[in-house]
Amino acid sequence: MKYYSTNGKAPIADLQKAVVKGLAEDRGLYMPERIKPLPKEFFDTIETKSFQEIAYTVADAFFGEDVEAEALKSIVYDTLSFDCPVVKVKENIYTLELFHGPTLAFKDVGARFMARLLQYFIRRSSAGCCTTATNQQVNVLVATSGDTGSAVANGFLGVEGIHVYVLYPKGKVSKIQESQFTTLGRNITAIEVDGVFDDCQALVKSAFMDEELNRHMKLTSANSINVARFLPQAFYYFNAYARMKALGKADQMVMCVPSGNFGNICSALFGHEMGLPIKRFIAANNANDIFYKYLQTGKYEPKASVQTLANAMDVGDPSNFARIYDLYGKSHERITALISGATYNDEQIRETMRQCYTETGYILDPHGACGYRALQEGLKDGEVGVFCETAHPAKFKETVDSIISGDVEIPERLAAFMRGQKQSVEMTKEFEDFKRFLMSR
Ligand SMILES: *Cc1c(COP(=O)(O)O)cnc(C)c1O
Repeated sequence: MKYYSTNGKAPIADLQKAVVKGLAEDRGLYMPERIKPLPKEFFDTIETKSFQEIAYTVADAFFGEDVEAEALKSIVYDTLSFDCPVVKVKENIYTLELFHGPTLAFKDVGARFMARLLQYFIRRSSAGCCTTATNQQVNVLVATSGDTGSAVANGFLGVEGIHVYVLYPKGKVSKIQESQFTTLGRNITAIEVDGVFDDCQALVKSAFMDEELNRHMKLTSANSINVARFLPQAFYYFNAYARMKALGKADQMVMCVPSGNFGNICSALFGHEMGLPIKRFIAANNANDIFYKYLQTGKYEPKASVQTLANAMDVGDPSNFARIYDLYGKSHERITALISGATYNDEQIRETMRQCYTETGYILDPHGACGYRALQEGLKDGEVGVFCETAHPAKFKETVDSIISGDVEIPERLAAFMRGQKQSVEMTKEFEDFKRFLMSR
């Protein structure tokens, strides 16, 4: 499969290049040049298949030309070592719980898949190479304001041939988040930067551009726009459909995705293009309403993000908009025919979390709350809605406890991180210091 750039000015890439580079040379996002529809028979019996079986069929359509069947199968099965169940919240509203992975958020799926695919490419190139420089370690640099760092670090943990450096702003990440990438050890190094998130990002960017450093070590990114991180998210939408079909509830299924950078919903839309029979989609936003406005007006006007309770969706210029726009031939009409939007401020998020808890006993996290509310307000007669719970409420324990006047139970795997010993390297925000550190490795 070949991949083109949404900006149309970069050379066509193969899968390996698209995964290793992440972003195309013209700063566009890679798109597969074809989306293969799955046969009708697959959907006819989908409810009889397991999550892993379904995911492998979907993975084969995207990656089967470039990765051997056995290897792809083990990448998929190994990625999905946990379930993404559909749970009933109330009549006609179900939740797709995406928080059963190691870091309790949906990014685990994409990060785990990308780590394993990258490892496959490293092994394949070193096997095919006859020089002495076999098995050269690949170093992933990732700047994080919280959640990305933990998903990437845990996704790559223990993956041979890859070392991950997570750069995060000292004192600006919650203790729970920090514990998820500073306590791992092994092939993960946490770097605590005396600065803000933008300083971390600047250090990573400078590293990628520094010739001497790039001669010294192989560097790559694990950015969320990477095709190996976003496409695998389609797996759980097919599975959600299968589980709803088994319940006899899939005929008029509406999928609602709390969205920030729009990678998650974009993978669902790719699924739809492959024939997944979802009737329509809702993109639920917090107060960062750029996409919502686009749907209303046809104008895409990025702006600075505002801070909200659902902070993983505080995005003022969603990168995957370019993919959605491209997927539907830049047609506002086609996009609005399939996708509608919703936007909620913090007060509405609080109100929804309280109301859902009182009425149903289900504890929403602030991101999922936007999804739940959009279904509650937007479902039409005969439709059944499924919204993504993108993170476990315990990840936002203080906020959630105070809103619902409760005491969210902390799952054992989260508690285990919090008991771990913090290991980090202190760093100034000066590139020379960061470079010296990397050159010594
Ligand atoms: C990343 C994230 C989102 C937003 O997902 P996008 O793919 O960027 O739209 C929503 N909720 C949580 C908890 C997240 O971590």
